[in-house]
Formats: sequence, C-alpha cells, structure tokens
Amino acid sequence: MNYKVLYRKYRPNNFDNIVGQEYIVKTLKNSIKSNKISHAYIFSGPRGTGKTSTAKVFAKTINCLNSVDGNSCDKCSKCLEFNDNPDVIEIDAASNNGVNEIRELKNSITVLPTNSKYKIYIIDEFHMITTEAFNALLKTLEEPPSHVIFIMATTDIQKVPITILSRCQRFDFKKLTVDDIFSYLKKVSKLENIKITDEALKEISYISDGGMRDALSVLDQLNNVENREITLNDVNNLLGNVSTQTINNLAKSLIDNNKNDISNIIKELNNKGTDYKVFIEKLILKLKDEALKYKFDNNNIEIFDKLKNLMFELVNKMDSLKNLSNPYIVIEMILLSYVNLKQEKNNKKEEKSEKKEEKLEKAEKNNKEILKNDSKIEKKELNLGNKVEKSNKIISREIILNRINNCFCNANRQKRDELIKLWHDFISYVEKNNKEILSIIIDSNIVAASNDYAIITVDDEVQSNLLNQKIIKVEKVFKKFSKLEYKFITITNEAFAKEKKQYATNIKNNVKYELKEDLMVENNINNKESDLEKTAIDLFSEDILEIR
Ligand SMILES: [Zn+2]
Repeated sequence: MNYKVLYRKYRPNNFDNIVGQEYIVKTLKNSIKSNKISHAYIFSGPRGTGKTSTAKVFAKTINCLNSVDGNSCDKCSKCLEFNDNPDVIEIDAASNNGVNEIRELKNSITVLPTNSKYKIYIIDEFHMITTEAFNALLKTLEEPPSHVIFIMATTDIQKVPITILSRCQRFDFKKLTVDDIFSYLKKVSKLENIKITDEALKEISYISDGGMRDALSVLDQLNNVENREITLNDVNNLLGNVSTQTINNLAKSLIDNNKNDISNIIKELNNKGTDYKVFIEKLILKLKDEALKYKFDNNNIEIFDKLKNLMFELVNKMDSLKNLSNPYIVIEMILLSYVNLKQEKNNKKEEKSEKKEEKLEKAEKNNKEILKNDSKIEKKELNLGNKVEKSNKIISREIILNRINNCFCNANRQKRDELIKLWHDFISYVEKNNKEILSIIIDSNIVAASNDYAIITVDDEVQSNLLNQKIIKVEKVFKKFSKLEYKFITITNEAFAKEKKQYATNIKNNVKYELKEDLMVENNINNKESDLEKTAIDLFSEDILEIR
C-alpha cells in the first residue's frame, strides 16, 4: 500500500548521498561554506545522473539554518519541512513552457519568501521552454531580486540559448560509472533485503548506461516479480537483453568462421527484440578481449586483424544503424563479411596468382573504410603494406642480420640520439594518425642508428616479429612524418645486448663491418610462400639472434 518506488525512496537527501558527481558536489558545498551563492545555475547532463536530486539537495542546504561544512544539518526546521517548503518551487518546463507561465513566474518572484532565506526555483527540462519564454526570462536572470535563486536542469544544453547560459553558473553532470551504479545497487538491495546475485547487479549497472534512475527502476521491477534470488537470467528475460553466453558463442563462431551459427544467433537476437546497441556494445568489448589474446600470437595474427577490424567497423557503423528499421539485417551482413574474407584467404593457395591482386584490392578497400587515417598513405604504399601483412610473412634471420650489419657499419652516437628523440614523437604521431601500427611500435626504442639504418628494440620476441613484418609500412609512415628515409630492423632487447657485445669485441679485434646490399625489399617482392614457411620454422625453432 505504502510502497514507494526505489528511485524515490533512495533519492539523496544530502550531498553525502549523491553518487558519482564528486566535483560538482564539492564545488556546491564550497559555495555554501564561503557563502558565495550565485543567483542562477544550470545543471546539464544525461537523464538519471542526479541533476534534479542535486538541485533539491542544494536548495535544502542553502536554506538550512545550521549547515555543517557545506552540508545540510537535516535537523533544523527548514531541513525537516523541506519537502513541503513553499519557498522551493519546482517547475516542469516540459508542460509549463509558454510565455504566460514565465509571466506568472516573473510575478511570483517579486514576492518575498514566506519563511526562508531564499526563494528557489527548480526548473526541470529547461530546454523545453519556448523561445519567447526564454526571452521573457532573460531580463529576470540579468537582475533577479536578491532573494531568488534559479536552478535549471536540462538534458539538452545545446537547445539553451547562449544568452541564458552566459548568465548562469554551469555544471555538467557526467554519466555514472558501472562501478558507481553497482555499489549503490548493492547497498540498496541490502537495505531492502532483495536477494540478487552480483552478476545480475553488474548487468543492470552496465545496461542502465550511466543513469541511476533506470538502474533502480529495473531493480524495482525484478523485485516485484520474484520471491527467490534474482539471477542474471532474470535480468536478461526482463529486458530482452543479450546474455554473456550468447556473446561468447558469437565470438567463437566468428573466430571459427561458422557462418550458420552466426546467422542463427543474430536471428535469435532479432526475434527476441534485443536492443541492438546493447548487443553491439557488448560484442565490441568481447572482440577487444578476444583480439588481445591473439595480438602476439604469430600463428593467428589473421584472427587478431579480423577481430580488430570488425571491432572498428562496428564502432563506425553504430550511429548509422539507428536509421534502419531492422539493424540486425545489416549487422548480420557485416559479421558474415568477415567470415567471407577469411575463407577467401584460406582458398588462396589453390587460386591462381592473378587473383591475388583482386583480393588485395578488396582487403585494401576494407582497410580504408575502417581506418580512415590510413587514407593519407598513398594507394601504392597501402597495397604493399597489405602484401606484407596478408601473406603473414616472417622476416628471415638473414635479412635481420643483414640490416643489423648495415646499421653497425656506419653507426654513430649523434644519429642515434637524434633518432631516439624523433622516435618518441613518432609514436605520438602514430597514435593520432596510424592507429593500425600503434600496437606494434608502442614501447619500442631506437638503440642504434647510422644515416640510413636503425635498430629498434622491443621486449617481446613476438612483437619483434610483428614489427618486422610491417617494417616497410612503418618506414613509409616514418618517412611521411620525418621526411627521413630510414631502413629499420627490430630485435628484442635481450638479442640486442648480445649483438652489442659482439660488436664491441669485433671493434676491439679490428673486424671491419662492410655495407651489404639490403635484402628486405627484394625478398618482399619475390615472396615465395614455401621459403617463408621454412623461414618461420627456422625462426621459431632457434634463438633468433644467437650468433654462432
Ligand atoms: Zn538544516
């Protein structure tokens, strides 16, 4: 009978109970402590982030007779009667948005507060006020009576005219984090004696998209339905939500190139009326996790690329999907296109070499779409980069040693120091312009350089191989960035330590280094698969740079 929905019951009644808006709370408390209260505030931010609740708490604290450290005392007459205080006037602008209402408001503000310090107007959905009404309000905001404070809340700050904004102190409320919501839900369920698993609470926190009101109302609904412990399944059933199990199955089907499973899962989601945005967001997170598993796995680098590219494509298409009556049709096509690409690759060996160009073109188109930044690179360059990548090539030890030799041949300290500096900036450049190669050059260092050659080191041998596979692309991007034409080669820090030692011994013994013809380019062009496979076995079965 007396049931109060959780959202109302647990509405914060002082600053200490407001979740996730620490900065705003701190600033408002300080303004009360220092008695520097302005006459107009605007609270903007997504729904359910606490704008109205904060406005109410602020209004209560402003009028509190014994506020302590910027917080309401909750004991004085003003605090106790807060909910019925005639001097705090709430207006819903969605339904009171015309000139007449504003005129009424303007008349009412001239009347002094009945028994409080301030008369406080809380205007919700403020952006809904008509232009005329905005204009009528402008003068009032310019020179309001000293006993009046306006607190305006809006979910759409863009619609509020700049002339109004410039007269208000503005606070932007941020979406609450999943952790913020989770801890709060946990607290509420305990107080309400609601039995629910952490897994289910996590799910509610996640899908409520930063809004506490939605989260609490889901908890409310679940609580009404069941008399046993509420599980993740209940949450999914209630919301037509996609289960983690479904996402896991889908990721597996994508990795296994299982077309039928993918189609079936998508059809099922569509039939259940699952929110496609929730589904895509979950899938993106899963793809990220899966992709990272394959990142340094040289045998499965194609899977890493596939998952990464699919992830980027979904991120890019997310917004345009909302214009479709059935986004799942397109989602299915997107997912299946990644299966096709892979199958084409598998059939590659059986196809004639002329068809290779066609496929590279396709892959190139795909890459361009996903990584727009790459469009800066000339078509030809991209093609070559793809060739290296798509053939999943391992750079032979011969090539690596050849380049190390050539670098040591004319290595000098000054060049090295220059390049170390430049490399640091280069990584920042790649971060902005060529995300595709970022993961392989991150945490890499220049350790030796001549005028034309340089040695890069990384910690991990797998990363070293990956970087060498894409070294031509890295060189092109580096050239674009620095106008310098360098030939790079990567080895692990451990291997370089050995190389350096060897170099020192050689210099001591007067062993001369001679510049040799660079093998990298030629080898890439005559890329013979069988030789490459041999090289790969060669490379993995032995210590990559153990000399002699
Ligand atoms: Zn008080």
